[in-house]
Amino acid sequence: MKWTVLGCQSPYPAPGGGTPGYLLETGGEKILVDCGSGVLSRLGRYFPPHQLDAVLLSHLHADHIVDLFVLQYAVWTAIRLGKRKSPLTVYAPSQPAGWADKIAYRRAVTHQPIREGESVAFGGCTVTFHRTEHAIPCYAMEIRAGERVILYGADAGPSTGWESMCRNPDLFVCEGSYLHRDTPERPVGHHSVFQAAEAARRIGAKRLLITHLYPEYDFPSLLQEAESAYNGELSLAEPGWTLSL
Ligand SMILES: [Zn+2]
Repeated sequence: MKWTVLGCQSPYPAPGGGTPGYLLETGGEKILVDCGSGVLSRLGRYFPPHQLDAVLLSHLHADHIVDLFVLQYAVWTAIRLGKRKSPLTVYAPSQPAGWADKIAYRRAVTHQPIREGESVAFGGCTVTFHRTEHAIPCYAMEIRAGERVILYGADAGPSTGWESMCRNPDLFVCEGSYLHRDTPERPVGHHSVFQAAEAARRIGAKRLLITHLYPEYDFPSLLQEAESAYNGELSLAEPGWTLSL
């Protein structure tokens, strides 16, 4: 399995950056995980977007889905020009309905609803969906290929049950939306960087990639906070960051 960061900022992209989107390559298949602002442009550096085998959307908030609507045009155009034969399947929650209704597009894109505990297989790996604590239905993804495990945490508040999803993942991709000093008074379904690091320590993650980063924070402050709670292999997400397992 290979995991590549295409976009990792939120709630809006830095100049030249992107909001969440990741490329999962496994057994010759190319899977896009989330499809935020700027993600399609970055994906095109690797291969034409119509060559994707599937798309997985963790939830239907704009920072994770906006580029899907131009990806629809890319796939539709490729089918019309004979470059692609089959529709692209997008696995995504069915709520909120107003957004879910916009996922399927002509005969180019089909929507496959995802549910708690269900799995889907691609190129030698299995992806299992687990609900997180968030304002709308949102699913973490436990991605297994043989002995190797990537846990993609999507958007998630600190009461998310990571321990029941997975232990000792080789890579834990966890959001850290703000420095702990900026934690909102009321829960909003997001982790601080410190809480992300604590969660990684609790589940014994072998490597932590903190993502969903506010673009105006500086990396040294983020790293210092993360290192105060987690002493394994630690990285902050950047477009182009990649790991092969
Ligand atoms: Zn988000």
